[in-house]
Amino acid sequence: MPMKELNKYTADEYIKALTEFHGNFAPGLFIGGFMVAAAIRRMGEYEIFDAICESTACLPDAIQMLTPCTVGNGWLKIIDTGRFAITLYDKKSGNGVRVSLDPQKLDRFPEIKNWFFRLTRKQEQDQEKLIHEIQSAGENAFTIRNVTVSRALLGKHDRGRIAICESCGEAYPEEECGLCRACQGLEIYSKLSRVG
Ligand SMILES: [Zn+2]
Repeated sequence: MPMKELNKYTADEYIKALTEFHGNFAPGLFIGGFMVAAAIRRMGEYEIFDAICESTACLPDAIQMLTPCTVGNGWLKIIDTGRFAITLYDKKSGNGVRVSLDPQKLDRFPEIKNWFFRLTRKQEQDQEKLIHEIQSAGENAFTIRNVTVSRALLGKHDRGRIAICESCGEAYPEEECGLCRACQGLEIYSKLSRVG
């Protein structure tokens, strides 16, 4: 699948586009764009790749905006280690590139450091300065590694059978016990009432 053209955005256009996509401006999404770009630049030989995002905050949206990989199409996996890192990789070999924001490199970038370590309160953060610093830092704030994604995460998994939950009557991927995960005790809603 063709890459979405990163180059089609100027910084201002990218800020506007990501604000529309994400709902509000988030520095993590802006810096995430540079991380995705750094990985894409090194994935030249691969036409098709999958993505892993290690954070649930902001970064998944940067990947979904700038690559064809989404959670819904299965090409983006979110594996929540809490680390601010993304990986693009060839889905067959698992070979790819991991880009992380490197805390060891942030002394040179005080605005990024303040934001990343939450040293300044949101209202006190100078957004203009932060945006400028993210742009001028570019890849210098990152650690970039070649990686091979572990076998267990590669390839298509058999999707298995669909069962009807004995308790709620909704469909779910069949497991040993006859109950869906919600009826096994995963509490999502404190209230649930029927309107249709
Ligand atoms: Zn159920």
